[in-house]
Amino acid sequence: MTVDTPVSIHLFRHDLRLLDNPALSKAAESKKLLPVYILSDQLFNSSIHKTDAPKQAEQYGSASAVWLHHALKSLNHNLDGGLNLFRGDTAEILIHLCKITAAQLVTCTKSHFPHEQKADEKLAEMLAEKGISFQQIDGNLLWHAEDTLKSDGTPYKVFTPFYRRGCLSAPEPRLPLPAPQLDLYEKLTESLELSEFGLLPQHDWDENLASQWDISEQGAHNRLEKFIASEGGEGLADYAEGRNFPAQIKTSRLSPYLKFGQISAHSAWHKAAENSSPDDKNLDIFRSELGWREFSYSLLNQFPTLKSAPLQPKFASFRWEKNAEHLLAWQQGRTGYPIVDAGMRELYQTGFMHNRLRMIVGSFLVKNLLLDWREGEAWFWDCLFDADAASNRAGWQWIAGCGADAAPYFRVFNPITQGQKFDPKGHYTRRFVPELAELPNKYLFNPFDAPAEVLKRAGVVLGRTYPHPLVDAKLSRLRALDRFAELSPKNA
Ligand code: FAD
Repeated sequence: MTVDTPVSIHLFRHDLRLLDNPALSKAAESKKLLPVYILSDQLFNSSIHKTDAPKQAEQYGSASAVWLHHALKSLNHNLDGGLNLFRGDTAEILIHLCKITAAQLVTCTKSHFPHEQKADEKLAEMLAEKGISFQQIDGNLLWHAEDTLKSDGTPYKVFTPFYRRGCLSAPEPRLPLPAPQLDLYEKLTESLELSEFGLLPQHDWDENLASQWDISEQGAHNRLEKFIASEGGEGLADYAEGRNFPAQIKTSRLSPYLKFGQISAHSAWHKAAENSSPDDKNLDIFRSELGWREFSYSLLNQFPTLKSAPLQPKFASFRWEKNAEHLLAWQQGRTGYPIVDAGMRELYQTGFMHNRLRMIVGSFLVKNLLLDWREGEAWFWDCLFDADAASNRAGWQWIAGCGADAAPYFRVFNPITQGQKFDPKGHYTRRFVPELAELPNKYLFNPFDAPAEVLKRAGVVLGRTYPHPLVDAKLSRLRALDRFAELSPKNA
């Protein structure tokens, strides 16, 4: 234990946990620890749901601001009420806090967001000028970027070699650390109350969403345990196949917890292996999904403009349609394609969307409707609890075909057969599109093909109880293929 540093500050950011938090453990070596969370003013931006509410940080859309509120509340509870909350300029606040507590060390988990990395460099200089050490310690990604490079020292742009040759041949991720013993500095009177962050919306849209999740560090570990236990066949034991079927909870649903750092990827990586053999296909695929998360961060660091600029430059001139009515219908789950509408409603009603659905609704937006993937990215950003600057942007570029390692442009998901294949009994679709609940499976994904008497028996009146399709799936596919073909070099 280092005894010569009487007070340290740990700056919580994307690591809202006590377990397996190396930067927190480092700070806890000091005699006293001041835990701090700063809602940074530099990152404020408007959001879709809350135009009349206080501006939120750009790193949080409406749903993730709600998650942040609950995650901070829970973290504060785990710190016996000792979490200090501030809002404003991070550097100014930290310098002030170091001054009043005589702290000589500030720690934080190393950020993997380019804009924060730049700010951290400056912060390190400013603190150094005051004689304060600023230690940024890895904690949120499984591998160090420098360990996963190609043999020529450059980063991979394609997932499979990144993961197989880069990650899996690098040293295995370290084992998770226990929670450190904390001796907390007295809570500062100038700490804000959580409510002063204004993270919750003014209407009650969030209450139903938040009530469906246990937004705490313990909640994250419970979820992981449940996933691994696979009771009732839901979980890791059937992950390889089951993860494509949204009607049951076959995936971990850890993504919001990982995004906010309430659980580390290291805990997920190692815990998942505890009761599996190393060559278990389920374990292998689950771990490779954690690898996709690493890959998204690698892409974000290679391409800091991932949010707005297509990774393939030829897409910059792509002729996207502009159609506010179609966009709104997609956002509200009124496209007339039940599987698409189910996904969009799951998103709005739960703050989450199953991965298979993210692909289906994404393909529908950019291919069948030919609307710009950035519109989809923005909506997901606002509605997803797990909205992540790396994974969301990489996911949308992948869907649109403009990413470095993307779905080919000619791959257009058919919204009817995708429903039939991945929701064969229709449980998922009926849950979120209850107005079609009485339709037989044969027409559940294409009610517009159902004979009049079938619709009548099911109480469905197209155009009234359920919308007509916005576009014809086949014709819109052909239109997309034509439009995307304009990108080929011979048309350039
Ligand atoms: P599991 O299947 O249990 O996987 C375990 C973990 O691996 C996930 O929690 C997640 O951290 C990671 N993971 C899994 N798949 C991916 C992937 N394709 N890319 C990156 N990481 C992955 N994931 C986000 O965390 N945040 C986002 O904002 C996000 N936006 C997406 C947008 C689109 C258009 C698409 C196609 C995918 C997006 N994903 C995003 C990836 C994926 O859909 C979610 O991570 C996954 O559905 C979360 O569910 P889970 O935790 O049950 O995943």
